[in-house]
Amino acid sequence: MMAFSLLLTGGITIAIFYIIHINRRLARDITGRKQSEQREQARNRVLQLLAHGAPLATILEAIVRGVEQEYPAMLCSILLLDNGGRHLVTGAAPGLPDFYNDAFNGIEIGIGVNSCGTAAFTGQRFIVEDIRTHPYWASYKNLTSKAGLGACWSEPIRSASGKVLGIFAVYYREAHQPSDAEIRLIEQTANLAEIAIGRSRADQALIESEKLLSGILENVTAYIYMKDAQGRYLFANRLLREQFDAPMEEIVGYDDYKFFDADTAAGMRKDDLRVLQDGETLHTEETNLNILTGVTNVFLSVKLPLRREDGSIYALCGISTDITERKEIEEHMRHVAQYDGLTHLPNRALFNDRLQQALAVANRNQERLALMFLDLDKFKPVNDTYGHGVGDLLLKEVAQRIQDCLRESDTAARIGGDEFVVLLPVIESGQDAGIVGEKILNALNRPFELAGHSLKISSSIGVAVYPDHGSSEKLLVKSADIAMYHAKKNGRNNVRIYQPGMQQISQ
Ligand code: GH3
Ligand code: MG
Repeated sequence: MMAFSLLLTGGITIAIFYIIHINRRLARDITGRKQSEQREQARNRVLQLLAHGAPLATILEAIVRGVEQEYPAMLCSILLLDNGGRHLVTGAAPGLPDFYNDAFNGIEIGIGVNSCGTAAFTGQRFIVEDIRTHPYWASYKNLTSKAGLGACWSEPIRSASGKVLGIFAVYYREAHQPSDAEIRLIEQTANLAEIAIGRSRADQALIESEKLLSGILENVTAYIYMKDAQGRYLFANRLLREQFDAPMEEIVGYDDYKFFDADTAAGMRKDDLRVLQDGETLHTEETNLNILTGVTNVFLSVKLPLRREDGSIYALCGISTDITERKEIEEHMRHVAQYDGLTHLPNRALFNDRLQQALAVANRNQERLALMFLDLDKFKPVNDTYGHGVGDLLLKEVAQRIQDCLRESDTAARIGGDEFVVLLPVIESGQDAGIVGEKILNALNRPFELAGHSLKISSSIGVAVYPDHGSSEKLLVKSADIAMYHAKKNGRNNVRIYQPGMQQISQ
């Protein structure tokens, strides 16, 4: 009986132990399932924040809170290595007291600088099971005991290239040795933090490079734009927006017909198609009338195709420099080189060019042309009597009256002080040229009202006809000069047509 009851008691004891064991396993299984569900949820929350571009601090805090929720005995922090790579700054540590976070914020890393500084410096996990006895924590005793911390495990957060970005740290209130599961947890958490920090740094780098690029685009003194395959603007830099007097949203999506007259826009479209369809890089000079401002500008434009990876063209990029001012300066320089500054008639150089061209045409077409030399009579006394300024005014007025006697196709030039030449490119006979000469003579005979004075002046005009009086430029010039010399000799104020034999008289 006794033996039986002993057996029974032993059986019950074994049964109770078995039930307790089963219950514990069941409880562990339930806890394990609950933990992995929690971890899954926390991870999804972090991934959502990442997907929505949440700030780094928010994501890091969600990571830390996720771990603390799963393991309520843990206190976690994420520290970030600063740009210089020598100091740790707080990334997220919501469960640790502020005085503690503040004390470690900005700490310089190194071996012996608690668990975190050491792990950041070496790039290796550093586990301190008992803070109270570990030499690397000796100098922080006050802080750790005030914060009530007993263990600290530090896991480096490393980029794909192995560079340390920061530290994931786990604290326990008591001395504590990590289990395999906890080691896996800190590794996984550091990986998640690496994704968040890496994404944030990439975003930051993108923002920086966009800032730099837009700084250049917006401040450069060139018009920079992008147009799609249909010639509609995709982008216009500040200078172009100012030129169009429109904000970006009133430019993007519109083509050049909105901003330029139809001819200008059509010309641009033709060039654009060469870039967009034929893939050419164009260097062109464009004269564009802006219909918004009514101003015409000259641009030096470079247009190049923008291609996808497969080589197909999706847009063009244009860079146009306003060369209106440079063109005006060039034009001014050209004018100065070819025209007389006082009367604005062609000078000797330009006249010689025109004479050569006219002679070539006359020779080819077997036509006559006339060359006229004109020198004012007694001009010096005008200067002497009324002053050089009045003499200048007279020269200007003389130039105007000569031109008034001529046709569009004729050329008058000033080749010296009071010397003028006239080219009549097509004439029937020397007589015709004589008539034009008389017309000029009479026009100059009319009194000049200048600066309150009424002046009288006359001129001596010599005429030579090609090919009759000279078969080359040189001979023709010589004949006209001789004829003019004869007009002077013959009492001035008259027109003389060159005649063979004049030469002998003059010499
Ligand atoms: P002639 O009847 O023999 O031609 O006598 P002239 O007094 O007209 O003398 P000439 O043609 O030999 O000299 C032209 C003068 O024109 C010489 C100079 O004092 C003057 N002259 C030359 N260039 C300028 C100029 O740009 N402005 C002014 N005001 N006078 C000039
Ligand atoms: Mg003279």
